[in-house]
Amino acid sequence: MREVVEKLSKEFELSVEETELIVSTLLRRPRFELYFRKSADHNIVNLLRMELTQLKNGVPIEYITKQVQFLRYTLKIFPGVFIPRLETEYFVELIVKLIDFVPERVCEIGTGCGAIAIALAEALPQSEIIATDISTLALENARENISLLNFAHRINLIRADMFSAFSKGIFDLIVCNPPYIPTERILSLPKSVRDFEPRNAIDGGFGGIEFIKRIIDRAKYYSVDSKCNVALEIDDDEVITLESYLRNESVNYFFLKDLFGRYRYLFVGNFRKNGE
Ligand code: SAM
Ligand code: GLN
Repeated sequence: MREVVEKLSKEFELSVEETELIVSTLLRRPRFELYFRKSADHNIVNLLRMELTQLKNGVPIEYITKQVQFLRYTLKIFPGVFIPRLETEYFVELIVKLIDFVPERVCEIGTGCGAIAIALAEALPQSEIIATDISTLALENARENISLLNFAHRINLIRADMFSAFSKGIFDLIVCNPPYIPTERILSLPKSVRDFEPRNAIDGGFGGIEFIKRIIDRAKYYSVDSKCNVALEIDDDEVITLESYLRNESVNYFFLKDLFGRYRYLFVGNFRKNGE
């Protein structure tokens, strides 16, 4: 296998270390094992060559290995479903830390592969979780993860356009990582996102905040006693516009930064700003 790694590293202009890492990820085996294997099957080498070509062409590695790590979960990811980001792991941590009440019913809008819903189901054992998506592929993906990880009894999956499936006054907490990239910025996204991730997962319309505003506008109607508690991911560039919009809404809110120092989270309602 050592020869294969060296050959592929030359062919794809990668360092030997990079090739080792990628090959071991693609084969889902620890790196050291590559050196225990005397030779590699011809078919495996061809498969690796095909997958490395896809990577070179910008296909995200998660779509090739069909898996993604999210907090302590190894999730399946279907090509065509949004890949959960590490900033979203932190989003879940923040929600759990800052929430000031025990929500009976939580709604996650746009669940994708189910990452947030699964992590919340575990962190909030007393809550019923309802997760929606408009994409049937995303829902299939989420259903698979939810049942593999034994959360089917805790999470209800529903196909819906935003709140369209729900009646008035039923949620205590609404969570969403919405599409929030301004349409005018989609073309300047990295190729791996722009060309391979689903457009309806990232395109937030003109200015990027259409979806976010729609959620905040409607959250009150769908919340118990009209007391809306909403946790959202947003883009740093949208803070000023969102702030001037929220000022007129007579709600408590605050923005928090991600691990890279950019504002990425918006909490509206009953949350502890400093996590005390
Ligand atoms: N929650 C996942 C995560 O954080 O990794 C996925 C978030 S992705 C940024 C946004 C998700 O919203 C996508 O799965 C997309 O299909 C879904 N979506 C887009 N428009 C929607 C709508 N009108 N109603 C419900 N879901 C929608
Ligand atoms: N590619 C963007 C990001 O993760 C998309 C996020 C989104 O629209 N929710 O930064």
